[in-house]
Amino acid sequence: MTSKRLLLIGGGHSHVEVIRRFGINPEPGAAVALISPDRHTSYSGMLPGLIAGHYHFGDCHIDLDALCRRAGAAWIGTSVTGIDTERRSASCADGSKHAFDVVSVDTGSTPVIAGIPGAARHGIPIKPVPRFLEYWATLRAAARSATIDLRIAVVGAGAGGVELALAMQHRIRADSGRARFTLITDGSAILASHPTRVRRRFTAVLRQRGISLRLNAPVQSATADGLVLRDGEVQPADHVIWVTGAAAPRWPRASGLQTDTAGFIAVNAHLQSPSHAWLFAAGDVAAMMATPRPKSGVYAVRQGPPLAENLRRALRGAALVAYRPQRSALALISTGDRYAVASYGPFAFSGAWVWRWKDRIDTAFMRQYNAPAQDGR
Ligand SMILES: Cc1cc2nc3c(=O)[nH]c(=O)nc-3n(C[C@H](O)[C@H](O)[C@H](O)COP(=O)(O)OP(=O)(O)OC[C@H]3O[C@@H](n4cnc5c(N)ncnc54)[C@H](O)[C@@H]3O)c2cc1C
Repeated sequence: MTSKRLLLIGGGHSHVEVIRRFGINPEPGAAVALISPDRHTSYSGMLPGLIAGHYHFGDCHIDLDALCRRAGAAWIGTSVTGIDTERRSASCADGSKHAFDVVSVDTGSTPVIAGIPGAARHGIPIKPVPRFLEYWATLRAAARSATIDLRIAVVGAGAGGVELALAMQHRIRADSGRARFTLITDGSAILASHPTRVRRRFTAVLRQRGISLRLNAPVQSATADGLVLRDGEVQPADHVIWVTGAAAPRWPRASGLQTDTAGFIAVNAHLQSPSHAWLFAAGDVAAMMATPRPKSGVYAVRQGPPLAENLRRALRGAALVAYRPQRSALALISTGDRYAVASYGPFAFSGAWVWRWKDRIDTAFMRQYNAPAQDGR
């Protein structure tokens, strides 16, 4: 049988499920390889819990090398920088090239900082996560040894920014460190995509916890002294964390792939590129053109099973199946202190029990990838 090469680019939430499924039910004659720069990929749902100190690194990271080995696939530790669409080959940061028959991209997104002068120099984006975690370790140490409060600005007040600010504050307090937090957004409210009850709940929590909130405050530039806001006012900051929406990588458009206006890879209902039938994409990096959805780990997770099925079918030359994303997703947003608020459509409810519920869902999710695959599909 002629071997077909399936190349997975990025160890995101959809691809870990693809690998798990190909491990349980190997595709005859297929050689599977995963390119992702770091051996451990983080599960975003538990990241605030790691920051807050409720989880260890291993609780919320998937070992891609081990996952691939169990599935008979190869993990290649580098980043893709482009695709040669004529030769069907991916070029990597380490100079290597990898030919494929079918390719899938699940490389996530990074915070939007490109248009803010000084942002890359002054402050740290939440993604890539490994870089942020290194920074967080030094920031915690600095807060522990500080004699006056460190001024920490978190820019971006979506669920990620709000959770992160609360988690960081919880941990620094538990460390007896010194820090004062400001949450900054260009919007007129926090958690813009969530119902009013959720926003009110979190606005009250931020107030109780002494986290300052700056609304309608688009950051114009970042300097060593802090952040310059629209009216020229300077928000003083010793540390700036960027959690500002989702930006696309540059290489997909530069490689000639069809993208949306923001540069995310366009996909049809089969999670397949309309411009290159042998290319699939899922997670934040993909733009579902007919059924747009917010960038969220929930959709990346849900896309895993249909993506695995369609990659299998593409290798066989069989007809693809359509994926229809759910209309809205349940968000369980934590307050850093083992308490969480559930947000679903217009509904909201909260409590320590919501955090325990979230914890059960998240730890069950992680068990699938860090334990040897034994169960059926
Ligand atoms: C603090 C925070 C909390 C969040 N909490 C939640 C939550 O509770 N629920 C939720 O639904 N969403 C949450 N999100 C959003 C969530 O993080 C993303 O939507 C989700 O991670 C997207 O998954 P993904 O599979 O697209 O990519 P990712 O999970 O980002 O994975 C991408 C992978 O690709 C690798 N990669 C990147 N570039 C390349 C390259 N060029 N070549 C090869 N590999 C590459 C990366 O190293 C990484 O391993 C949160 C976000 C933040 C910031």
